[in-house]
Amino acid sequence: MTRDLPAPAVSAQRMHAITEETTQIVDMVLEYARRRILSDDTPLDKPFTPSELRRLAGRTISDEGMGARRALALFENVLAPSCITTEHPQYLSFIPSAPSKAATAFDLIVSATAVYGGSWLEGSGAVYAENDVLAWLAHEFGLPETAGGVFVQGGTIGNLSALVAARDHADRLRREAGRARPERWVVVASSEAHSSIASAARVMDIDVVVVRAGDDGVMRADGVRDALREHGDAVIAVVVTGGSTNFGIVDDLAGVAALKDERDFWLHVDGAYGLAAALTEIARPRFAGLERADSLIVDPHKWLFTPFDSCALLYRDPEIARLAHTQHAEYLDALTDSSEWNPSDYSVQLTRRARGLPLWFSLATFGAQAYRDAITASIELAHAAADEIRAREHVRLVRDPQLSVVVFERIGWEHGDYAHWSNRLLDDQHAFVVPSSHAGRPNARFAIVNPRTTVDDLIGILDTMV
Ligand SMILES: *Cc1c(COP(=O)(O)O)cnc(C)c1O
Repeated sequence: MTRDLPAPAVSAQRMHAITEETTQIVDMVLEYARRRILSDDTPLDKPFTPSELRRLAGRTISDEGMGARRALALFENVLAPSCITTEHPQYLSFIPSAPSKAATAFDLIVSATAVYGGSWLEGSGAVYAENDVLAWLAHEFGLPETAGGVFVQGGTIGNLSALVAARDHADRLRREAGRARPERWVVVASSEAHSSIASAARVMDIDVVVVRAGDDGVMRADGVRDALREHGDAVIAVVVTGGSTNFGIVDDLAGVAALKDERDFWLHVDGAYGLAAALTEIARPRFAGLERADSLIVDPHKWLFTPFDSCALLYRDPEIARLAHTQHAEYLDALTDSSEWNPSDYSVQLTRRARGLPLWFSLATFGAQAYRDAITASIELAHAAADEIRAREHVRLVRDPQLSVVVFERIGWEHGDYAHWSNRLLDDQHAFVVPSSHAGRPNARFAIVNPRTTVDDLIGILDTMV
C-alpha cells in the first residue's frame, strides 16, 4: 500500500535529496572554492560600511529563497570583497593567516565527511589523526609520551580550558590536604600576557596577579617567584607567554620553569602565536624549559598554516583535564561510560568540528621539515626588516624582534599620522598595517607568518613612511 505524502514532506527533501538542483549547487560551490584557493591575486579588499552593504546586498533572506546562483554571486561580488584577505602577503596586522593550499582544501573535506570530532565512538579515525599531530607536537615540545589534549576553536578557549583544569587540580589538592579554598584563586601572568588570560579570569571569577615585564618585554623568574611567595597555593597557574602577540617576545621560560625546583605550581605556556617557532632550530633555544609545562597552547591558524579556526591544547597529564571537563548527561552515557579517548572531555566544549584535520593533512603531506622551513623564513624575514629599519633615519625599532613581529616608530609621527598612513595603504590596496601602540606611544607593527611575504614588500611599505 502506498501512502501519498503530504506536500511539506515532499518539499522537505528538497535541500537534502540528490537532484539536478543540489548537484548544480555543489558543483558551483566547489568550482568557486577551487578558483579562490588557487588564485594568488585575490586583492586585499576592505570593509564596507553597514549602509553600503545594505544598499549592495539588501535583504537576503526570504520565504522563497533567491536560489544558489544569485546567493553565490552575491557572496562573490559583494560579501567576499568586503572581507579583508587575511592570507594576502601584505596583510601584516594583528596575526595574519597563511593556510597551506592543502590545509584549506582539506577543510572542505572536514565538512563534506560530516565527521563528529567529539568522541572516539563517532569519530575514531579523525580523532586518531588529530591525536597523531598532538603526539608529534608533544614530542617536539619535550612533553612526555602520555601528554595529550584536543584541538579547540582558538587560543582564548584553549587558555580558558587549561586554566579551568589547573583550578580543578589546585582545588583537589587542597581538599585532599584538608584545607579550605582560598578566598580568591589567582593566576600569575605577565603585564604583556594576551588579553585572553584576563578574559579567562573574568569568566572563572578569579584574579590575575600581574608580573611586570622588563623593558625588553620579558617576564622574568624573580617577579614570578615573588608572586608565588605572596600568593602561595592560591595560585592555580603561572602563565608564560611564548611569543607575545604585540612583540613576539618569549618570557624567561627556562627561569620560570626552574622555579618548579623550589615549589610546585602549574606552568601554562600560552604559545598561541609563537610556539610554532619552537619547531625551528633557530628559535628553539628561546623555549628551553618548555618540557616542564603542565599545559600549553599553539594556534595552527596563526603560524602553522591552517585555516581558521584551530588551537592545539596539550596537557602533561590529560587525566586532570578529563576530570575537570567531562560533561555528564543521560544522553551521553554511552560516551562517558567508555574508556576511549573523547576529545570533548579535555576542554570547555562538547560538539566539535575535527578542526585539527586540516593541519594533519597538510603536515602528513609535506612533512615537518616544510613547516620548519616556512616558519624559519618568517623569522629571518622579520630580522631582515629590522635591519632595514635600523638603516633608515626616519624610523626606529621599539624593541629588537625575537620571532616574526617587528614593531617600529616613524620618528615625529602622532596617532593621526599613523592612522592616515594606514588608511591610505589599504585604500591603495597596497598593504594592511594598522597602527598599534606601546606605553602610550603610537607605532607600526609587522606581524609576519606568510611565506609569500617578501623583503621587498616590507621595504615598499617602509618607503611610504617618508
Ligand atoms: C592570539 C593569541 C591568543 C588568542 O587566540 P585566539 O585564537 O585569537 O582566541 C592567546 N594568546 C596569545 C599569545 C595570542 O597571540
